[in-house]
Amino acid sequence: MNIDIIGAGIGGLTTAIALEQKGIKTRIFEQAERIKSVGAGIILANNAMQVYEKLGLRKVIEENGNPISSMNITKPNLNPLSKIDLTYFEQKHNIKNIAIHRGTLQQILLDKLNSTEIKLNHKLTSIVENTNGYYLEFENGEQIQSSTVLGADGLNSIVRQNIFPNNSIRNANQICWRGITEFELPIKFKNELNEAWGKSERFGFVQIAENKVYWYALKSFKKNKNEFSINDLEQYFSDYNSVIKDIIKSTKKEQINAAEISDLKPTNIWFKDNVCLIGDSAHATTPNMGQGACQAIEDAFVLSECLYKYGITKAFLEYQKLRLPKAHQVVKASWLVGKMAHLKNPILIGLRNQMLRLMPSSINRKQNEQIFQLAEI
Ligand SMILES: Cc1cc2nc3c(=O)[nH]c(=O)nc-3n(C[C@H](O)[C@H](O)[C@H](O)COP(=O)(O)OP(=O)(O)OC[C@H]3O[C@@H](n4cnc5c(N)ncnc54)[C@H](O)[C@@H]3O)c2cc1C
Repeated sequence: MNIDIIGAGIGGLTTAIALEQKGIKTRIFEQAERIKSVGAGIILANNAMQVYEKLGLRKVIEENGNPISSMNITKPNLNPLSKIDLTYFEQKHNIKNIAIHRGTLQQILLDKLNSTEIKLNHKLTSIVENTNGYYLEFENGEQIQSSTVLGADGLNSIVRQNIFPNNSIRNANQICWRGITEFELPIKFKNELNEAWGKSERFGFVQIAENKVYWYALKSFKKNKNEFSINDLEQYFSDYNSVIKDIIKSTKKEQINAAEISDLKPTNIWFKDNVCLIGDSAHATTPNMGQGACQAIEDAFVLSECLYKYGITKAFLEYQKLRLPKAHQVVKASWLVGKMAHLKNPILIGLRNQMLRLMPSSINRKQNEQIFQLAEI
């Protein structure tokens, strides 16, 4: 079996590793001239780390990242509103959640690949079915014939647009700035993700390595992200806790990147004949639950197991059956969290905060219980 993967993001690379380990021959086509990531961190939750354990990557990820034992929502002054204690899941699955630099993770994934050929500077422009499978055309003029294609080409997937044109990208009307800074966090925050919710904005921060902090800040806009300027970031969060203000102040402007937040409206079909979607191309989510990449990593695990066990058609069908409900649950819940986090009306904010404070920890735990559980194949 030969598989061609479009896209060398976290989803494409993890899938290639998983397929290689099953003895399935794989090539990756990536549009970029070199594999690079935005200067940001990522939280690999328990479900993703269970997959990386199976792929033999747990130790190297733990050595290069920072363990996170609780995820907290707070007020702007960092007074707690709700806390998800991750130690319960650490004990249950015998694995920790790890925060890590995206670039470091990508390098770890690249280093793990052995036989997979990665063809850089190969931006797919079209994919057409023919009698021998699929005819792929790339921007650099190259054309290839392929028998089986996995679209791991992200939110704006060309594979998806060619094979399943009827789907829509939803704009959450939020701008997100992400940055990494050399910063010594007070000791009590070292193994926590904290996200402070204010009035139609929020700020999250987490340690990703020794004296390295990854942070993200979001604000709602009316028409587009140009309503805000990176130069005014300090002012937007001027009434937040001094730790947050110091984090912003310590970050070099050129190390901050801005993006609009969107997702893919849930779609019920992820494959057609010998083409299948994985990761963001199938189920891009808003980042509010920190599960986008984790879901792509789960796809890699489930799909490789299915391809190893079954022929292509049954493998794609089983993969979709096993993965779609949970991926959609994440997309829907995350969209809702984004709405709740960005309330503007002070009365509604008060009610929301009250609800968060009173929410029994058993409900938080139950929700995460489902998310952290891998499918059985
Ligand atoms: C602000 C923010 C914070 C986030 N935080 C987290 C987090 O803490 N934890 C988490 O799990 N997730 C998080 N996510 C989500 C996560 O980043 C994505 O879900 C994840 O990167 C998806 O991986 P992917 O490989 O499917 O797609 P991508 O990462 O988008 O990779 C797609 C790859 O395909 C390539 N490509 C695209 N088009 C083509 C083409 N036509 N031809 C060839 N190559 C192509 C791209 O260059 C890229 O390399 C966050 C997202 C955002 C926006």
